[in-house]
Amino acid sequence: MEIAARKVTLRLAETFTISRGSEDEAEVVQVEVSHAGTTGYGEAAPIARYDESADSALAWLKRLELGADDPFALDEIEDALPPGEHAARAAVDAALHDLQGKLTGLPVYRLLGLRQLAPPTSWTIWLGDPDDMARRTERILGRGFKRLKLKLGGFDGLDVERVRAVRAVTDLPLMCDANEAWSLDEALEIIPQLGAPEIGLEYCEQPLKAADAGGPALEERSGVPIYVDEDCHTLPDVAACAERAHGINIKLAKSGGIREAVRMAHAARALGLGLMLGCMVESGLGIAAGAQIASLMDHVDLDGNLLLADDPWPGVDFVDGVQRPSSRPGLGVEMHGAEMHGVETQGVPAA
Ligand code: MG
Repeated sequence: MEIAARKVTLRLAETFTISRGSEDEAEVVQVEVSHAGTTGYGEAAPIARYDESADSALAWLKRLELGADDPFALDEIEDALPPGEHAARAAVDAALHDLQGKLTGLPVYRLLGLRQLAPPTSWTIWLGDPDDMARRTERILGRGFKRLKLKLGGFDGLDVERVRAVRAVTDLPLMCDANEAWSLDEALEIIPQLGAPEIGLEYCEQPLKAADAGGPALEERSGVPIYVDEDCHTLPDVAACAERAHGINIKLAKSGGIREAVRMAHAARALGLGLMLGCMVESGLGIAAGAQIASLMDHVDLDGNLLLADDPWPGVDFVDGVQRPSSRPGLGVEMHGAEMHGVETQGVPAA
């Protein structure tokens, strides 16, 4: 098998702001794995919060040797991967799944025995002033989204106002993501107000800092389901999350790919945890990998490609609020245009 990797810069349609900062563009890594004249593609977005970048991912990919010359030998390949760089691992995992699907003529969700249809995706209303968030909510109301995820954590005492302002303009189901912004006392003051009937918040994602000692107390007293994201990366994290949350947010860029994400989903179910599938700002190539396993989830947040000025990898269909994977083989997406802006190709040695 031959493997190559590159860094790609994706441009956002509008500036995206969360509690940790703002961005106008996002860097992803894309991997291609070829075998017997067929090529599989995969993508993932390295997460700065976990000290990963497109450059560190590329450096890991350049050192990579695949442990087998067989795209179906995923256990052997996974065992031979060096540690770390979860986004890069996810891109390799996605490319191998895409390749398997193309070689067998099956979409990946069918290879995995999963359903094509999943819960509707949320649309993210990124952090801003309460009025600004309400105005942006009004602007997308006609676009077919069935639920909204509000980014909170403004450190200005206005987070409840933000949700009230959005609730005043829509009846859509709402959830929020504080991205580790609140203390236990703040969370215990804010979350019950958001759960009150006039707002009816469905759940709150990562209110506290990862590993915050207040996690178990908040889980017991919040009154609204707590989902953890920054607390939960790979399978070994899942059991501890049952002590501090009602559900986990799985992202392929954290888990290292589809295989580990499926393991996490089953472990979480055994512990009685709810499941959410998240994403980063990614093109349709990255979103397509998530869409293959979205049917396992209670909640889906796969809007990364919809936030882009232009998605270079169309193929995931946004239908009735659902990010539906294509029924074509593999991940079912294809790059449009001969050359992408900002592509830097770097060869990687074959296994
Ligand atoms: Mg989150």
